[in-house]
Amino acid sequence: MATKYVYFFGDGKAEGKGDMKNLLGGKGANLAEMTSIGLPVPAGFTITTEVCTEFYKNNRQYPAELKGQVEENLKKVETLMGKKFGDAKNPLLVSVRSGARASMPGMMDTVLNLGLNDRTVQGIIEQSGDARFAYDSYRRFIQMYSNVVLNLDGDILEHILEQMKERRGVQQDTQLTAEDLKEMVILFKKKVREEMGRDFPEDPEEQLWGAIGAVFGSWMNPRAITYRKLNGIPAEWGTAVNVQSMVYGNMGDDCATGVAFTRNPSTGENVFFGEFLVNAQGEDVVAGIRTPQPINKAGGDGTLPSMEEVMPVCYDQLMKVQQTLEKHYRDMQDIEFTIEKGKLYMLQTRNGKRTAKAAVKIAVDMVREGVLSEKEAVLRVQPEQLDQLLHPSLDPKAPKTIIAKGLPASPGAASGEVVFSADEAEEAAKIGLKVILVRVETSPEDIHGMHAAQGILTARGGMTSHAAVVARGMGKCCVAGCGDIKVDYKTQQFVARDGVVIKKGDVITLDGSTGEVMKGEVPTVQPELTGDFGALMEWVDSFRRLKVRTNADTPNDSKVARNFGAEGIGLCRTEHMFFEAERIMAVREMILSEDLSGRKSALAKILPMQKGDFLGIFREMKGLPVTIRLLDPPLHEFLPHTDKDIEELAAVMKVQPQVLRNKVDFLHEFNPMLGHRGCRLGITFPEIYDMQVQAIMEAACELVKNEGFDIVPEIMIPLVGHVKELAILRANAIRVADEVVARYGVKVEYLIGTMIELPRAALTADEIAKEAEFFSFGTNDLTQTTYGLSRDDAGKFLPFYVEREIYPNDPFVALDQSGVGQLVEMGCVKGRQARANIKLGICGEHGGEPSSVIFCHKIGLDYVSCSPFRVPIARLAAAHAALMDEK
Ligand code: PEP
Ligand code: MG
Repeated sequence: MATKYVYFFGDGKAEGKGDMKNLLGGKGANLAEMTSIGLPVPAGFTITTEVCTEFYKNNRQYPAELKGQVEENLKKVETLMGKKFGDAKNPLLVSVRSGARASMPGMMDTVLNLGLNDRTVQGIIEQSGDARFAYDSYRRFIQMYSNVVLNLDGDILEHILEQMKERRGVQQDTQLTAEDLKEMVILFKKKVREEMGRDFPEDPEEQLWGAIGAVFGSWMNPRAITYRKLNGIPAEWGTAVNVQSMVYGNMGDDCATGVAFTRNPSTGENVFFGEFLVNAQGEDVVAGIRTPQPINKAGGDGTLPSMEEVMPVCYDQLMKVQQTLEKHYRDMQDIEFTIEKGKLYMLQTRNGKRTAKAAVKIAVDMVREGVLSEKEAVLRVQPEQLDQLLHPSLDPKAPKTIIAKGLPASPGAASGEVVFSADEAEEAAKIGLKVILVRVETSPEDIHGMHAAQGILTARGGMTSHAAVVARGMGKCCVAGCGDIKVDYKTQQFVARDGVVIKKGDVITLDGSTGEVMKGEVPTVQPELTGDFGALMEWVDSFRRLKVRTNADTPNDSKVARNFGAEGIGLCRTEHMFFEAERIMAVREMILSEDLSGRKSALAKILPMQKGDFLGIFREMKGLPVTIRLLDPPLHEFLPHTDKDIEELAAVMKVQPQVLRNKVDFLHEFNPMLGHRGCRLGITFPEIYDMQVQAIMEAACELVKNEGFDIVPEIMIPLVGHVKELAILRANAIRVADEVVARYGVKVEYLIGTMIELPRAALTADEIAKEAEFFSFGTNDLTQTTYGLSRDDAGKFLPFYVEREIYPNDPFVALDQSGVGQLVEMGCVKGRQARANIKLGICGEHGGEPSSVIFCHKIGLDYVSCSPFRVPIARLAAAHAALMDEK
């Protein structure tokens, strides 16, 4: 049988289904589903994503069967609608839209009113009895088609429209008459001929195939490519094309069009929420050209009348539809509708994008409403999304100078210097500046700047405008539709309430939860982790197997991490402790001493401070496991470099500065990451590790003896590549530890383990495990050494690799499962072979990245360890991993 490339929907029957998103795209699958559950959907058909994939595989050629199948389905639509495509009396007009598997708002192209030409426009006049409407639709069609299909710069025809308005002395498009619009159609076509060297296509069939081609073509446009990259959508998925009969929201005051969410997408509150425009067409609401009206009284501030008041009958009907949809999909829906002459049509439904706050609230509420199970609720919140919730919001007690107020489009708070273009935002972010991107409104071309900015402020557009939708998806704070500000790109400034002028480079603060814009930087406070979040995380913890620890070097970080639910410390890096102002002198003295006694006397100065560090951390962790890593970085990182530093140190050490200078030169390394670091320091200067082990054990013994703690310190030796290194250092550590324990006369157990962060360590993990009670995979160094890719220098070229898709993503962010991951897995298997009860964890950055956490669960690690702010993300990812096993 020939492959089916086209799926019909209309009049309560559909060939597709809601679960066919891979083939029909999200929009197509949902149109089919809505049709089958009896909702009013204008008839149409979906061309599958397979066509898109074949189109690109076969040098932009369609499969041979496609033409026939499209014709056949177009006929079905004609029959159902009682209209004919291209007919002069009763013409069928269609929309042609993209629709990928995952929603990509505003990323690809759409053509409306297709089928209009000089003949069919007469039919539309006859049918609608409204020449103005007919010519307005016609001129919109020419504009859209010329831009999307013929690639004519959109400004060219827009300019003709502006000129016409000027000539007629009017401000609004709606003030132009039928005659004006008719004339404009002629002017538009003339311009197209001039610019493109060809006539605007009159033949509806040619128009249709042009538009289908353009939608498939738009899958590879730069906007779509950027969006896919940012959202991890593979190019192979392709887009579907939806061809659907047109319905009109712009045929008069009994017509309207709108976008709504079944619950508030910003707060998650269970209130129907949306915006609409009377007498407007499709994209007008989302495009942010006119400021829309609220759908109900609850969602407005009383300045504009709501749909509930203006069109009560349709509102009631829509209310029922939204309830049906939410019940059917068991999730918050984002819907688009049009009202044509008082009749409601549904144009789209999809699971609505939401802020993290809303995601958590909706998931928890739906469990309470009996809609979802706890497991389903946990799977509804994406781990990475939590990031939004874990960051600070404005300190309510801090004074603030509010200079404007807009819509609270995406929550969170951010401060930064004002910039007015996406490119500037990107440039500034590259040199580490924090910026707020201020635009009249944003468009898909601004994506890169929105990504680089801390927050986004727009003067125009509603809660469903491009800026609002995209910012929410990115988890960026956004204030949209801020009518209080007048943006002037020319002078690079905006004027806010009371004439306050903010220039490029001035600092402002946004509160995306209230819509407030403030002058200067306003301090922030930590997020609230109880309530719905707390409830969800309790379920999360009941489902996961993997433990989650944190990487923390200070009592304060430890405290933050515990509040986020850390179950111990997986990595305490001791080197940071050596850099503190009052210690660095002693550290330098130790490194530069000529002999053992010199080093020992310097270390004796450091010992009590180290002990103090560990006491603080152990106390904060209240008996939870703590892994302390002995000194790791290359010695030269501690060295004095300026003349002043060298002279000061020489005075303390009572030597000539030149002697120190010579020593500093001698210690210089060409490749310090592969140099004198990690356990190599412990081998060459055993007294350093001895001091550290002593400090750890003295701190533990004191707490056990004096404060009744129950502590089993885990002493970790870094950068082991050969078992003998570990054997020697372990013996040393045991000697020192046992001596301390005996001195205190208490019973304190301890573990000695190693990091697995060199390929040789993973390859010989069975030998190493004989000397180690635990392994912690240092996937930062393991990635560096497996790829031969410098952690410090890769930033210069890695983005290029990712952009070119040579690497699927930055391997320092998401664990390279097929390469580095193999070594981790091998380390686990070999480690367990040699020592069945060996504890296994990971402490590289990957320990807080969801896809890597899922991998760690799969290969059977006992825990992951990550930075404090990522602990809840790792907990949720670990629960997802466990729940995926059940599926
Ligand atoms: C690692 O290499 O993964 C690690 C955790 O250690 P560091 O980042 O300190 O080298
Ligand atoms: Mg390391």
